[in-house]
Amino acid sequence: MKWYKKDQHFLVDEQVLDRIIEYGKLNSSDTVLEIGAGYGNLTGKLAGKAGKVIAIEVDAELAASAGKWDNVEVIIGDALKIGFPPFNKVISNLPYSISSPVTFKLLKCKFELGILMYQYEFARRMVALPGSKDYGRLSIAVQYYADVQILEVVPKSAFSSPPEVNSAIIRLVPRPAPYDVVDEGFFMKFIKAAFSQRRKKLRNAIINNAVPLGIKNIDNALKKLPQEIIDRRAETLTPQELAKLADILVYERI
Ligand code: SAM
Repeated sequence: MKWYKKDQHFLVDEQVLDRIIEYGKLNSSDTVLEIGAGYGNLTGKLAGKAGKVIAIEVDAELAASAGKWDNVEVIIGDALKIGFPPFNKVISNLPYSISSPVTFKLLKCKFELGILMYQYEFARRMVALPGSKDYGRLSIAVQYYADVQILEVVPKSAFSSPPEVNSAIIRLVPRPAPYDVVDEGFFMKFIKAAFSQRRKKLRNAIINNAVPLGIKNIDNALKKLPQEIIDRRAETLTPQELAKLADILVYERI
């Protein structure tokens, strides 16, 4: 079986397909990017409302059926490897195995609205707030770039063949970051380190990740951080509290 076949769960529930179109609030001035078009079940409905649809599909056989509408341009290829052409909305039932890299690839693009289907667990992590068990690196990173909301949970039975878990439709609205950081790249690395040992105090996670974070003198660096904060677990801290720590540590690098 080809690697991408495992992602081929086609959405066959017409009502869910129609609601995805409604959430997209499409009109003829929209250029929609669809990632993982399959045989075109969502593509055709998008094409009926949008000005243009750019449909990316890695499976050439499926892609042949996704391109039968005049305003649909099909690109055959791996969404992680090809450059995305300009679009203002992205509406897709995503291939779940690339959820994380494709989301961050999208968040580097300029667009107005995303209506995206993910595995329910992944969607919960995207929207999670401090203190919840789903809150972590993904929640902080996604919410840094966009407002994100679960619109509905979609049962396995809406698909053919059904995936192993439920899914959820997410609304993603990119906006400027709600707080400043000195170095975005370092902040993202710091978040990864902070949640690498989520059951331990943040102090330990920082000590154990001093090398990947490039911190030259960890004892000195720790003294510069607010002690009451680093004695807590990362999952209890707000993104802003974590950003303040990253902004101190960024100056302690080699
Ligand atoms: N759009 C259809 C639907 O809503 O039923 C199909 C969605 S299905 C969950 C995901 C599709 O993504 C499959 O057709 C699969 O072949 C395709 N796919 C998997 N990995 C891909 C990748 N890296 N780049 C582009 N398409 C991919």
